[in-house]
Amino acid sequence: MTSRRTRARLVERLRAQGIKSEMVLRAIYEVPRHLFVEEALASRAYEDSALPIGYGQTLSQPWTVAHMTEVLLAGGPLQRVLEIGTGSGYQTAVLAALVPYVYSIERLAFFHQQAQARFREMGLTRIVLRHGDGAQGWPEKAPFDGILVTAAAGFAPEALIAQLQPGGRLVMPLGEGRQQRLVVFRRDAQGVQMETLTECCFVPLLSGVC
Ligand code: SAH
Repeated sequence: MTSRRTRARLVERLRAQGIKSEMVLRAIYEVPRHLFVEEALASRAYEDSALPIGYGQTLSQPWTVAHMTEVLLAGGPLQRVLEIGTGSGYQTAVLAALVPYVYSIERLAFFHQQAQARFREMGLTRIVLRHGDGAQGWPEKAPFDGILVTAAAGFAPEALIAQLQPGGRLVMPLGEGRQQRLVVFRRDAQGVQMETLTECCFVPLLSGVC
């Protein structure tokens, strides 16, 4: 149920559903999603569905992870990426398969510590994690050429836009409840442009740490 063959079938499904980036498909193939959910859910890890990870939070469905990663990388290879909402760490690990420097912030101590332990066990030593409120970004590590937010906000936090390097992209869900859209902000010579992509459904971006 968790074999490479099962993962290869997931990759074929994602390809059939419009994911085109071979690099992203490769990363989905390489990262063992079943290690990012509770054992009881491991057999469902390669279905294209979102899975509960505790504390009312969810690990996004593989298509969403692949799509967001593809949009983030669409402008060319990236060097430094910031993720907001580490959660299970799965999206973080997919990013680390594609980008040399990956930073990720999580507001819940439980997820932060769990991801630290997971990455240590998996030998993913280049990922740098922080327990904090991601809406502030990570000024000490900025600028980033990619920022990915995996929780929905009513508007894009100013701090994140400010920490985007020229040419950089911020991909995030905007909106509330069922009225959410995935958007991409691009910083170029004219300023910051926003493009609306698909409908989506994420847990809310919350303030403060726990
Ligand atoms: N990328 C995760 C998705 C987890 S769900 C994964 O692959 O599993 C979204 C996560 O965002 C949750 O863990 C939630 O605690 C976290 N989150 C919500 N608001 C946040 C904030 N302001 N700063 C950092 N993390 C936040």
